[in-house]
Amino acid sequence: MTQELLSALIERTTASIAAHADELTKLDQAIGDGDHGINMARGFKAIAEQRDSLAALPANQALQKAGMTLVMKVGGASGPLYGSLLMSMGKALPEAPASLADVAAAFAEGVAAVQKRGKSGPGEKTMLEVLVPVLAALRAADGTDLPAALAAVRAAADTGLESTRPMRATKGRASYLGERSVGHLDPGARSSALLAHAVADVLEQMP
Ligand code: ADP
Ligand code: MG
Repeated sequence: MTQELLSALIERTTASIAAHADELTKLDQAIGDGDHGINMARGFKAIAEQRDSLAALPANQALQKAGMTLVMKVGGASGPLYGSLLMSMGKALPEAPASLADVAAAFAEGVAAVQKRGKSGPGEKTMLEVLVPVLAALRAADGTDLPAALAAVRAAADTGLESTRPMRATKGRASYLGERSVGHLDPGARSSALLAHAVADVLEQMP
């Protein structure tokens, strides 16, 4: 079961990033250096190439290994940040997660690691605008009603992404633009929203 789930998660997240790489690049061209699509596609391609060996591991180890791959393969700020998210989440996850609460607790460690690594917090127009509300939705979710929890996660991701548009960036390359960063979606928030949707789609279809 875990093996199939991990395999499906890798497949779906990689496909979504690949399908939206141009969009991520365009968003990063507007307020950064235009490499976010390439960075993310390269990182997830490297994870997909290890799909069989990753899927054979317990979920906590697979997350840590995938995180290390992102750190190694992705240039730019987003590699170490997403890498820290997955590695810390993997460290905190029990070998056999028993509930949505286990997943939420591990994801909380991952989001905390992003904040620590990025020296950043909500309100700075970054991926945290999506990650923090998604965590809140997971924490608030009733573990017995998975479809409702997943709907809340998707809605939190979408609202969080859109919240970046009027924000002025104060972290990362976009912060160099100051006021000119206003009026654009943050590329990392977009990739986080894509990943949240991809994970929710896979979990929704779990038997
Ligand atoms: P780079 O900015 O080095 O070119 P990417 O383009 O791959 O790297 O990633 C940019 C994204 O990384 C931003 O859109 C933002 O969401 C995220 N980001 C950058 N710096 C930080 C930070 N300090 N904290 C959180 N997220 C950040
Ligand atoms: Mg960039």
